[in-house]
Amino acid sequence: MARAHIPAVTDVRGRTLVTSFVGLSVLVLAGCAQTDGSGTPAGADAASSDAITLTPTHGSVQGGNRVFVDAEGSPEGPVTVAFGDSPGVECEFDADVRRHACVAPRREDPGIVEVAVTADGNTLAEKASYAYTTPGTQVSPVLTVDTSAVQRNAEEIRNEFPSGVQLGAVLKNGEPVDVFGNVIEDAADPEYFFVPKLDDAITLRESGVTAKIAVMYVMDTADIPLLVHYDIEVAATAPAWAEEAERILAEMDAELNVHLWIDTGLAREGVVPEEALPLARAIEGAEHLNLAGIATHFCCIAEGDVEAIESNDATNATVVQKNRFDAAVEQIRGEGLGQDALIHAGASDVLANDIESLYYDMLRIGGMFFASSAPDDFIYSWTTEIDQVKTLPEDWCIDYGCEERTQVPTKVGLISHIPSRDEAIVFTVNGREVPVLLDHGTVVTLDLTGVPETSVGDEVTIDFSPETDHLLEATPPLPVTVGTGG
Ligand SMILES: *Cc1c(COP(=O)(O)O)cnc(C)c1O
Repeated sequence: MARAHIPAVTDVRGRTLVTSFVGLSVLVLAGCAQTDGSGTPAGADAASSDAITLTPTHGSVQGGNRVFVDAEGSPEGPVTVAFGDSPGVECEFDADVRRHACVAPRREDPGIVEVAVTADGNTLAEKASYAYTTPGTQVSPVLTVDTSAVQRNAEEIRNEFPSGVQLGAVLKNGEPVDVFGNVIEDAADPEYFFVPKLDDAITLRESGVTAKIAVMYVMDTADIPLLVHYDIEVAATAPAWAEEAERILAEMDAELNVHLWIDTGLAREGVVPEEALPLARAIEGAEHLNLAGIATHFCCIAEGDVEAIESNDATNATVVQKNRFDAAVEQIRGEGLGQDALIHAGASDVLANDIESLYYDMLRIGGMFFASSAPDDFIYSWTTEIDQVKTLPEDWCIDYGCEERTQVPTKVGLISHIPSRDEAIVFTVNGREVPVLLDHGTVVTLDLTGVPETSVGDEVTIDFSPETDHLLEATPPLPVTVGTGG
């Protein structure tokens, strides 16, 4: 099973995916728990004579902070240190600290870079690694994304997908979209990806996704040059939007595929059915716009929907939606418009319930990719290390107020800076789930009675509880902020 550490994400076949993913490293957490406590980056050979250590091992993408470099065997004279691809910076030996002091250069994206040290014109063979993080620098557990459950789901969805129907993968459930986009593209080869924001679409495109990509919701016409540049399709939302888009595209001498979304009774994206035909006319009348799709959203299938659709029961909400959609499509096509447009409406629920009359040309599947089949199919987990181990005497107070006491002498382990989340989480040490004696977020005391061999530095894995719905959430429960908007 692949446990993919961010940013060195590997998929289940063990390939390292990190290089092709530009945006994934937003999940790099401050704290860089990949050190072994001595400040030596994991993987570096601490025993080697010219091992390089950096202090600190991480810093903000803004750069400008001081990083001390300890390169054994390097002279006390100036050395040059290169952070990743950045040009080398001159570092001065700081006699007080007995290390070379370097100013970290700024970097565009967060992520871990290799650091090379050159002394007297010789570049040391040993390299160190340095993590560029986004703002928010509290020491925190390292996030791990396990892509194998999503990959299995994607393979299963593709294997059982109705033939003749196109697959649209909806990525709006979590980060990093590029990691999941590539896993889904490899495993299920969808015709389309649908995303909520332009940023997500660009991230997917830049990470090598070759399928068509469409933004599902309203977008500013000012972003049309970006859509063209990255080959991204978009929702057309009003005749005036189409006219303005046409003006911009004509100037650029470029074409844009758009999808006409109809709100058939959800009060969300799209025009109301009466406005669908005028919008279709505006799109088809615009030389540089192609009507690539006509869409609505059948999100949820309720009990009785199947029978109601069969009997065309007009008291059923899904039937009402379907009839509005079919009528609008018929009206558009009746005028000879949208002949080649893909008709798409159904989501995971439609596929799960095999409702063929709602398949149309394409299904847009989101949640099904992220569903867990086994209770321990974790997608997100975090790892940290035991900071302190001790044995509490019998009858020892637990927590403020001393409302609880130990019954027997109890071995405990302390961990710190655990991201707070609403979802229940479980802690695993040395292969066993351990109870929480006390959880103050910044300090969590784990009961190690079941794993008495545990010592300081042992790894703790933090997962969503199997009892909770651990789909990826739109708001990742991460102690990072991404960018500052300048
Ligand atoms: C979320 C969403 C989907 C996917 O729905 P799931 O139930 O997650 O499969 C499809 N279309 C639109 C417009 C959506 O917002």
